[in-house]
Amino acid sequence: MSFLLPKPSGRQLSLGIMGGTFDPIHIGHLVTAEEACQQFKLDHVIFMPSGIPPHKDRDSVTAAEHRYLMTMLAVVTNPCFTISRLEIESKQPSYTVETVRRFYAQYGNDLELYFITGADAILDIITWKDYRDILARCSFIAATRPGYSLQKLQEVLGSAFPAVMQRIHLIEVPAMAISSTEIRRRVAMGKTIRYLTSRPVEQYIYKNGLYRYIPA
Ligand code: NAP
Repeated sequence: MSFLLPKPSGRQLSLGIMGGTFDPIHIGHLVTAEEACQQFKLDHVIFMPSGIPPHKDRDSVTAAEHRYLMTMLAVVTNPCFTISRLEIESKQPSYTVETVRRFYAQYGNDLELYFITGADAILDIITWKDYRDILARCSFIAATRPGYSLQKLQEVLGSAFPAVMQRIHLIEVPAMAISSTEIRRRVAMGKTIRYLTSRPVEQYIYKNGLYRYIPA
């Protein structure tokens, strides 16, 4: 890994990995990370844009470097936030288990690790590579949109539900009413996205002509 975060003395390092495609990053992601940082007393939240998202068609996702730079622009001023190139530089699909293993290899076992992402992304966790190993090594913080029903998770996870839920903390984030899909759609329709993401990210999108067309 290309960075090493300072360890606090006398206690475990507590890290949140904020995993997502971030196409683009928006205020909902930032509020989620800030809330997780505060509620779970995290030393740092590391934003981890996926390189090749495992469950997505590579061509349907904006180039990793654009997503990385937008994320950097959005997080750079928050002292609790940082960003990693680990997944975008990998030639392999961005399997969460590999990322989690890399963190343990880097920081040793004196580490409390949380993987922060959207509750909908977790719906299919039992299909993720080595998901039991992920759950053994880290907890999840799952951001839900207002009105989210636990029943959905229960139905999808079936008998694995109780074991999985022991490792998942749900946090409701009203700002997650914003979605990356909606931002892409609005840009393509020529509608304003002001206040849905940070101003530098908005300017980056227009400067680079991102999201002008909705893929068929
Ligand atoms: P996604 O399917 O694009 O997103 C599902 C939902 O979660 C969307 O509503 C999305 O909203 C939201 N979301 C995504 N990331 C979020 C975040 N960090 N905070 C709050 N909400 C978030 O999910 P994805 O981006 O592809 O995957 C999410 C993470 O899970 C990534 O780190 C990915 O690598 C990991 N993952 C791993 C595996 C595996 O290891 N096999 C498989 C799937 C996913 P927005 O669209 O507005 O972001």
